[in-house]
Amino acid sequence: MDIDELLRNDEENFDHAKVKKVSDHVAMYRTLVSNVYMISNPSNESWFMIDTGIARYHERILVAAERHFPNLPPEAIILTHGHFDHAGSAKALAKHWDIPIYAHPQEIPFLDGSTSYPPVDPTVGGGMISLISPLFPKKAIRLTKWLRPITDETASTLIDGWRIIHTPGHTPGHISLFHEEERILIAGDAIATENPESALSIVFPISKIHGPPAFFTEDWDKAKQSIQQLIQLRPKLLLAGHGLPIEGDAIQEGLEHLYQNFDELAIPNNKKNE
Ligand SMILES: [Zn+2]
Ligand SMILES: [Zn+2]
Repeated sequence: MDIDELLRNDEENFDHAKVKKVSDHVAMYRTLVSNVYMISNPSNESWFMIDTGIARYHERILVAAERHFPNLPPEAIILTHGHFDHAGSAKALAKHWDIPIYAHPQEIPFLDGSTSYPPVDPTVGGGMISLISPLFPKKAIRLTKWLRPITDETASTLIDGWRIIHTPGHTPGHISLFHEEERILIAGDAIATENPESALSIVFPISKIHGPPAFFTEDWDKAKQSIQQLIQLRPKLLLAGHGLPIEGDAIQEGLEHLYQNFDELAIPNNKKNE
């Protein structure tokens, strides 16, 4: 199984019903390896797209969005961070809808072409990563024309009830989104709910809380502190960039277990005690 075959397969099996409502105000659409979320703003019937999957998915994402919100383009795209599996279709979608792309101020340099993420460590990782490696971008993503900074303060004027939480570690400007009243957490790659190092999880997703995708994580101390922040939020519904939704007590148990055993469970062997 190679990446082109996988992509072709996924395109042939494209199913509009793949847009799944996961709560009153959140829908998800799973691209080959990563999730796109659509959150609605009940007060003025607007909505926002959180992350945009890998490249080559913009047409499918457009159909998915149109099915869920007929004739209503989103207000904006918000990126949890700038990795290619989250920002891949951002440019094409922003261009199509003529809407801004929001990211944390510390993530912006990675999205406007001024700097690149550190090279991927080839000694870490495995299944999914080697599988999608042909999709790794050859040059820095440049979204400058559409790019705007977002912080918790500015977010409150944009979307009702959602907070922007800076959860660095996986990348410097990584953010999570949290709906205070309904306790819904969109965690990006601060954690994963499937094993991102396993190619099998694409075919047989098993919901369990894992650390951030190891291959691309830059700062393990910060990544651990960010998990502590997530624990304090006590989410009732956990939506990650990779994997299926997790509900209820399993979230708190999973997050605590990951935090307590972070070195063993999340940090790759060659990065321990660095
Ligand atoms: Zn990432
Ligand atoms: Zn990712």
